Formats: sequence, structure tokens, C-alpha cells
Amino acid sequence: MDVVTTIAEVRAATDAARAAGRTVGFVPTMGYLHEGHVSLMEAARGDCDLVVASIFVNPLQFGAGEDLAAYPRDLPRDLALAEAAGVDLVFAPSVEEMYPRPVLTTVTVDDITARFEGASRPTHFAGVATVVAKLFAIVGAGRAYFGEKDWQQVCVVRRMAADLSLPVEVVARPTHREDDGLARSSRNVYLSAEERAAAPVLHRALRRGVELIEAGERDPAVVEAAMAELVATEPLVLLDYAAAVEADTLVSPAVLAGEVRLLIAARVGAPRLLDNVGVTVGAPAP
Ligand code: AMP
Repeated sequence: MDVVTTIAEVRAATDAARAAGRTVGFVPTMGYLHEGHVSLMEAARGDCDLVVASIFVNPLQFGAGEDLAAYPRDLPRDLALAEAAGVDLVFAPSVEEMYPRPVLTTVTVDDITARFEGASRPTHFAGVATVVAKLFAIVGAGRAYFGEKDWQQVCVVRRMAADLSLPVEVVARPTHREDDGLARSSRNVYLSAEERAAAPVLHRALRRGVELIEAGERDPAVVEAAMAELVATEPLVLLDYAAAVEADTLVSPAVLAGEVRLLIAARVGAPRLLDNVGVTVGAPAP
């Protein structure tokens, strides 16, 4: 596995691969890798000839007062995990390499960024869309792998790539969970033992929402209230939102139908944790 820090080195490697008829798979991360990241790298390894992963804590997607400086980092461990997952090339640039001058050009995706994570973190998705557009421009044509765990991010990146005609196929992969259902996240490291014990209520609430829909409930407000009620049983978990929305648009429908996504976010001690699940709503029972 090669580790490079410059844009020119990544371009040389990916251009040479494509020129030789090889496909390129790309996994963007902010490091502090866990099995969720590893599952994306393994999926890329299975599908593509050259697997590139980036490790870059992107300052643009952190708001003032967020955890940029404290964001957990461990490059040697990350490199060992990436190598074991079959990554060929790690791009670990400095902030200066990615942003040598003040950023005057940003990418904003309207509408689907207005609610949920965008409401809590107003500059977050412009930061994500901008760095992902840059990374796609650096790595070039191929497939890019993202986790469903950040569902709104998947929607934003897909839309950005389509709207800008970027030659990248965005592949979304299932959320990797701990045995008790907690979605793996680099931020789980911030949880105290008590908070860690309380956090799986988020996944239980999502499961409760799925059960209600599978039992025939079609009113999003009823599903959302049931999820919120379950989260309220854990005093350490402060709910931000629990929502039942159309999977692609993140719009709240009057009646649940088709591909639905249940989204949840809560503050558990210091960190804000996110989770979501998908459910396909069939025709109403006769
Ligand atoms: P991050 O390092 O948090 O920016 O995440 C990098 C990529 O890994 C993003 O596409 C995330 O959605 C994905 N990811 C994070 N956690 C998980 C998880 N538990 N399961 C699957 N993918 C994940």
C-alpha cells in the first residue's frame, strides 16, 4: 500500500490505472477508522482494480464551536486498517495541500440540506460537498463508496455528482453496527460508560418505527412520535429529531409510501449521534 500526501501523486496513480484499463474505487474518510469504514474499503476492493482511500479531517465541514480540534486522529492505526482492508493507495493530505489559499469557491446543494443535519449545522453540507467535489476532481472517474449511516450526506453527494455531471458513481453501503445496535462512529469514542449504555436507544427507536410501519401505520407523525417517546425513556439522550421521510428527497410526506427513511439524531453527552434505517412501504392492506 502506498501513502501519499500530494494531489499530483494521487492523479498520477489514478490516471495511470485508468490508462491501463483498470477501474478506480474511492473511499473518502476523516480517519479514526472503524469497521464501518473498513466495510466500505472491502466493498471497493471487491468491485474495483485500484482502491484509493483518503484520510482528511476537513475543516470546512466543521462549524464554529464544533469538535474540529478534538476530532480523534490515529494515522498509524488507520494505515494498518486500510492496508488490511486491501486499500492500494492512501491519500492523507495536509490542510495546506487541500486549501492552499482562502477558499473562494464552494459547492452548495440546496433544498435537501435545509433540514435535519443542515438545520443543526448550517455550513456543514457546503463543507462536505466542496471537499467531496475536490476529492472527486483529484481521484477522477470511477466509483466512490459512502456509508448509509450518514444518509443525508449520501443524498447530498449523489445529487451534487449528478448536478455537476461528475464521472463518479456514488455507491451507498449499509451501516455497520455494534452488537447492541449502536451505529459505529468515530465519535463513539467520546461517550462515557453510562452514555454508551444509553446510546443504543436510537437504534431501538428506529426499529420501533419500522415495526409500526410494517404493522400498517402510514402517518409519519405517529411514527415520529413513537420514536421520540422511546428515546425520551433515556434521560442521557437528548433528541434532536426523529423523522419519517421520503428516502431520496428527505421530504415529509402526508402518507408514508414507497421508499421511506427513518432518521434520528440526538446529543448523548458531548457528541451528537446520527442513525437511520430504510423501509419499503408496500400497498396498504386491503
Ligand atoms: P467519516 O470518517 O465519519 O467522514 O466517514 C467516512 C465514510 O464512512 C462516510 O461515507 C460514512 O458514512 C462512512 N461510515 C461512517 N460510519 C459508518 C458505519 N457505521 N457503517 C458504514 N459506513 C460508515
